[in-house]
Amino acid sequence: MLTVEQAQEIILNSIAVLPAQDTPLLEALGRTLAEAVAAPISLPPFDNSAMDGYAVIAADTEGATPENMRRLRLLEKDVPAGTAPTEVVQCGTAVRIMTGAPAPAGADAVVMVEHTQLSPEGFVEIFVPVKAGDNLRPKGEDIQAGQPALAAGEILGPGELGLLASLGYANISAIRQPRVAIVTTGSELVEPGQALKAGAIYNSNKITLAGRVLRAGAALAAMLHVEDNEQAVEDALAQCATADLILTTGGVSVGEYDFVKNALERLGEIKFWRVMLKPGKPVAFGKVLGRPLFGLPGNPVSALVTFELLVAPALRKMLGRKECLPPTIEATLLSDVSHKPPRRELRQAFTSYDATRGYVVRPAEKRGSAMLTSLVGVNSLLVIPEESKGLRAGDKATVIFPAYQE
Ligand code: AMP
Ligand code: MG
Repeated sequence: MLTVEQAQEIILNSIAVLPAQDTPLLEALGRTLAEAVAAPISLPPFDNSAMDGYAVIAADTEGATPENMRRLRLLEKDVPAGTAPTEVVQCGTAVRIMTGAPAPAGADAVVMVEHTQLSPEGFVEIFVPVKAGDNLRPKGEDIQAGQPALAAGEILGPGELGLLASLGYANISAIRQPRVAIVTTGSELVEPGQALKAGAIYNSNKITLAGRVLRAGAALAAMLHVEDNEQAVEDALAQCATADLILTTGGVSVGEYDFVKNALERLGEIKFWRVMLKPGKPVAFGKVLGRPLFGLPGNPVSALVTFELLVAPALRKMLGRKECLPPTIEATLLSDVSHKPPRRELRQAFTSYDATRGYVVRPAEKRGSAMLTSLVGVNSLLVIPEESKGLRAGDKATVIFPAYQE
């Protein structure tokens, strides 16, 4: 049986980064920048005022105090933001200017309006001196035209998108978003909102996995449910032909009604089945119709744990991320946990940072692979090593953190 690392390696080696696509900025949120961007213009594009106030020659304000104000003659034309100044500031004169407006010729500083008072005869009186350059933002102080603005591989968050917008880009070359199809299997399953028949349970994997797919920054191509019937499984997989990645749940253990593995064998190829993992041992990975397919276990906790360890890395690879494997930290365990070799175990857990102890991790009380309440409020997965005989409160442990989000 494969270790988690071996399974991850097989997955990452058989999945490719998706192609780049010219993308409107807002649609590019959360995607990976495909090509480096150099600034086509300088930011700011021109010298401008950082304050509402008066553009002056700094030397004219030297020694100004409330008792000994400097009087400067106001030139006629104000400079609001969005206009080009027409006046030239000369010794003894000033121009009223607004934040973001271009600095007029001749001026080398701006006095903030709070340090001035208007006098009736068309003069402004200044009671705090400025030095050359004060309250002026020089052209290119943020970035000069031609300088690198963003590197290829950068994740486009709100700030990166804002930079691209201020450089004038309406579209950008970003890695395409993966489209994921989800096929849940099981004749016992009923969709939420419908009446429960005898022996039936509600389908929870569909919503859990769909939520996780969206949080990964991927899109949903299809969400299907099929009964435990060979033909139904194959028909559903055929409907997933346009997806970049297919997820199934259930039907991959050794039960008589486990059709997913059979379908995978018939319609494509199995690259592996079963990983030394608890929960989540009966997980399959392969290709169907040329698409990667993960056959996740049916038990809800197992499905989510295998998503975190195996599917999330695949989606990160498709998204063009540099780091694909789950992020881990070392944390101090807050309670004892039992374990029996030989599988690596992942326990639902809540991790937080504390000023005295650093990262601390509290495992969820429930641990069954079908216990959905164990998923409430958790943000991480405690990793219990294969050969461990259990961990004790106070031990340092490896934790996948954050889990269930990017
Ligand atoms: P299986 O792997 O199909 O044998 O399923 C293992 C367990 O998970 C069984 O108890 C199933 O009823 C349960 N299960 C399978 N699929 C789902 C699902 N979509 N939602 C909730 N429970 C499920
Ligand atoms: Mg089943």
